Amino acid sequence: MSLATLIDSDRKHLIHPVANYRAHEARGVTVLERGKGAWLYDANGNELLDAFAGLWCVNTGYGHDSIVKVASEQMAKLPYATGYFHFGSKPAIELAQRLVNISPRNLEHVYFSLGGSDAVDSALRFITHYYNATGRSSKKHFIALERGYHGSSSVGSGLTAIGSFHRNFDVPLPTQHLIPSPYPYRSSTPDDAQAIIAASVKALEDKVAQLGAENVAAFFCEPVQGSGGVIVPPKGWLKAMRDACRRLDILFVADEVITAFGRTGPMFSCEHEDVEPDLMTIAKGLTAGYAPMGAVLMSDAIYQGIADGSKPGEAVGHGQTYSAHPVSAAIGLEVLRLYTEGGLLANGQEQAPRFAAGLDSLLDHTLVGDSRHLGLLGAVELVSNKATRARFDPSLQLADRIFEAAGRNKIIFRAFGDNILGFAPALCFSANEVDIMVERVRKTLDDVLEIADVRRALKD
Ligand code: PLP
Repeated sequence: MSLATLIDSDRKHLIHPVANYRAHEARGVTVLERGKGAWLYDANGNELLDAFAGLWCVNTGYGHDSIVKVASEQMAKLPYATGYFHFGSKPAIELAQRLVNISPRNLEHVYFSLGGSDAVDSALRFITHYYNATGRSSKKHFIALERGYHGSSSVGSGLTAIGSFHRNFDVPLPTQHLIPSPYPYRSSTPDDAQAIIAASVKALEDKVAQLGAENVAAFFCEPVQGSGGVIVPPKGWLKAMRDACRRLDILFVADEVITAFGRTGPMFSCEHEDVEPDLMTIAKGLTAGYAPMGAVLMSDAIYQGIADGSKPGEAVGHGQTYSAHPVSAAIGLEVLRLYTEGGLLANGQEQAPRFAAGLDSLLDHTLVGDSRHLGLLGAVELVSNKATRARFDPSLQLADRIFEAAGRNKIIFRAFGDNILGFAPALCFSANEVDIMVERVRKTLDDVLEIADVRRALKD
């Protein structure tokens, strides 16, 4: 197929995730052809710096031959092994063991999914099953954060607090509730970490009191909110929420789909505060996007509750054909080796201060109101008035214009609808690549500032 035919065919037949379908038809697809390290090459021959690791997943960078090798060897040897009927495969068992070894101490059991949405969905099903099996069947309500993202499964999307995931999809369910996000830049006390933490704890306590603790199953949160605009809570927030859940007798679920595997520095973001969640959801960096895979890690108490809840001969009816897929698992093992022995985690930690300084250096730009980051996860937030922190009018469609300008400057990052620019470079980024990233972002902001109606929208 020629490129023109591909684009036409895409327009006619391929439904893209989280897109305005009419806008996509009008714009057409950008076909990506290959990648190496931090760089992507499109079908028009453009070399693009990928400052978003695909979709915050290709933490290793592109083109690792060792990953390709283990995948092809596993495909040649055993391309598929079901986990049903008591079968299994070596790479999947080894990967489960490895995840248990490196994750917070209390997490002892692993269920493999295909990605993050079904990891969250699996966690929701396991929690429901657990409470029913252990005689606390009134615990049906779930609490999450405003601006949270927990995927797009038919139940999980109700915990995702983004309007487009709800509109016309008949979620959230009556059992799904939100409390405010710990969002320092938009808080009435931006510099008072303790006040932000206390407000979140109180909001959770109030919500649980309103619903009745006997009716609340769990609190879900991301250690750093990703798709809601890379919102970095103050240090101590995660631990305070974990402790509150224990006091309130509800389960604490850390959704580390983005934050795990070195994205915020350590292997898991929970490590920053020595937090042991009851369940953890992971995906993305687990296989660095080289093949689909996610997982739910669970505590022994939950596993035993579910296991003892089934009578002999009764199955726990949760499964997928591709759960614990051997090729994905082999890739996962090699990706974990690259993070540790391959030095990627260490490189990510080494580049983090430069990445932070680079984003902070953009604060002098007319459009930039806030810069925030943890590890190699960060954002700058654009405002029309720095003093009042006023947002730009959505009719300006600033995010789309920024994304297109970024393309012309040969850089990829995320331009969220409310004019937050998200960054998640691969852990293989060199110091030079971090500098190129910052340079190209600044150039993109300068270009956008040249647009007459953007200038007009600035408020003195
Ligand atoms: N949970 C979080 C925190 C995420 O960021 C995502 C995806 O970005 C998901 C769940 C859903 O993962 P997936 O897109 O692999 O289904």
